[in-house]
Amino acid sequence: MTDPVPPADPGDAVARLAALRAALAQRARDCGRAPDAIRLVAVSKTYSADEVWPTIAVAGQTTFGENRVQEAVPKWRDLRARAAALGKTIELHLIGPLQSNKAREAVEHFDVIETVDRDKIAAALAREIERLGKRPRLYVEVNTGAEPQKAGILPDEADAFLERCRTVHGLTIDGLMAIPPAGEQASPHFALLGVIARRNGLKELSMGMSADWPLAVALGATAIRVGSAIFGARSGR
Ligand SMILES: *Cc1c(COP(=O)(O)O)cnc(C)c1O
Repeated sequence: MTDPVPPADPGDAVARLAALRAALAQRARDCGRAPDAIRLVAVSKTYSADEVWPTIAVAGQTTFGENRVQEAVPKWRDLRARAAALGKTIELHLIGPLQSNKAREAVEHFDVIETVDRDKIAAALAREIERLGKRPRLYVEVNTGAEPQKAGILPDEADAFLERCRTVHGLTIDGLMAIPPAGEQASPHFALLGVIARRNGLKELSMGMSADWPLAVALGATAIRVGSAIFGARSGR
């Protein structure tokens, strides 16, 4: 079976990123939104530091997403140092499920943690934030499709959980993140995430991936998370 997206080539990633930025700006304008109101999080999971580097050095991308703490830590220790030598500051987002025994590393190494989804994690993050004196921005992940195998707080439980994040755990939550069920129309899920964010006074909405980001922009995304449309297909990695 051949993949619709060819395998990674660093030069291609730079070209694809440029095309994606142009398309994102156009889409924002078409939706009556300011292009700079939508952050592009380049999802670099499974790609090596050397494969990612041209998007930093040549294309000037500084916002990235990773879904596994263990994979991200050594890779971004290296890439942050290389970027710093060019005077660039990286903003790294954790977009994959977080285990409480990884909370310390997550607080140490990520600037935004998008996957807060239960009290045990909220408590562990609060503890490490206090201990390390480092305060990553936090989003709550919502399981908008109520899929049993998927991470995220259920939509019905989101308001109460957000309240507990503030009152019980002392955490400031800046936004929400969701991954709509595969093979379903994404728009109702994006719309639901927006409703929950608005009624809880949250500004940031992380939603939309390679296949559906234009819809997410229309429905108010403030960050889209795009991997394969920049770096190439991940199959076989
Ligand atoms: C991998 C991943 C993405 C990017 O997916 P693409 O389809 O490659 O753009 C976005 N969000 C999360 C949570 C991911 O794990």
